[in-house]
Amino acid sequence: MATHRKKAGDRPAPAAASVADANLAAAALLYDMAALQPTERSRFGYKRAAKAIAGLSVPVADLVAAGILRDVPFVGPSSERIVSEFVTGGSSPTLEAAIARTGKPALVEEQRALRDGYLSHAVMAQVLATPAKEGVVTTADYRGDFQMHSTWSDGTETIQTMADAAMNLGHRCLGITDHSYGLPIARGISMEKAARQWKEIDALNARWQGSFRVFKGIEANILVDGSLDVQPDERNLFEFVVASPHSQLRRKEQQTTRMVNAVKAPGVAILGHPRGRMFNSRPGISADWDAVFAQAAKRGVAIELDGNWHRQDIDYRLAAHALAAGCIFALDSDAHSTGELRFSEYAIAHARLAGIPAERVINCWSDERLEEWMRERRGNSAKPARARRAAPVRRTPR
Ligand SMILES: [Zn+2]
Repeated sequence: MATHRKKAGDRPAPAAASVADANLAAAALLYDMAALQPTERSRFGYKRAAKAIAGLSVPVADLVAAGILRDVPFVGPSSERIVSEFVTGGSSPTLEAAIARTGKPALVEEQRALRDGYLSHAVMAQVLATPAKEGVVTTADYRGDFQMHSTWSDGTETIQTMADAAMNLGHRCLGITDHSYGLPIARGISMEKAARQWKEIDALNARWQGSFRVFKGIEANILVDGSLDVQPDERNLFEFVVASPHSQLRRKEQQTTRMVNAVKAPGVAILGHPRGRMFNSRPGISADWDAVFAQAAKRGVAIELDGNWHRQDIDYRLAAHALAAGCIFALDSDAHSTGELRFSEYAIAHARLAGIPAERVINCWSDERLEEWMRERRGNSAKPARARRAAPVRRTPR
């Protein structure tokens, strides 16, 4: 592991090559078409069809070949034409004519950059179904999810309901990470409310007697200078802190200092959805990510692969850089309802594509190892000046 910054040319090449994703490429053409529409109504129509294609569980080419593409909800005749042209010929003359007619190639180019590195449902499922290379994380290794929200902040379900759903997915633990008080728009919780939440969690854990475990977390906001809204002494009252950016996500300038400071902030365990990007909407933070990852590796802070479909943040290509930097990872759903818990599958799929071993994934660790790692992160508050390496990685008991 490098302890100093390497020159750009010295950096290890990312392990992950780009993935061919025909469903997402087909959906992208419909998003392109949507961007060219003069009315909100027609934009909405193409976007709805695009979303349906991206969410298909089978290759879109199979549906075109079988002549049943129109059976997909919201796919109308013009969407069908564009997708069929793409599947049979590799491009869509209909879309190209529309781009030429409206004179908006620059707009289309700009929007395309906002869909780079995302996976469709079908490709995600295919990645998970492919046998993993020795040691690389699988769904069978996955014990629990470390970013989710409950009715305490902007989630729609109670902690108990989220836990029941997680148990149904075969998980053994979870981390509740409601929003902190600095994000009132997401009903971020006060410390007083957090204290009441811990009592609820203690009661649940006592009832489960070790068969399932809820860890007490918080999703703190990374402010513009990289400090957090939740203060260092407050952070230590939680078992773990996810620090995530929720502002300044459309700025073009580099925000390396902000993100490095966030990783160095005492008590941080996970850097949540590091870029803050949003599918088809915003690019998220630009930074020298290798510098951020080097700091995270040094301090044992986990880099999150946020599996929310609209986020997929960070994706497999950037994750390969974090892996090369020696980072550990958190593969989370960022669920706000029980239905969204399965977003963790996108995070696992990106990790698989990046070649991340299970032993580097906190979600695969035993409760005891998690406790130890969380304690070490809290311990960083007492001695912030001393950089720590990630704890040596041991095999997780299965
Ligand atoms: Zn967040």
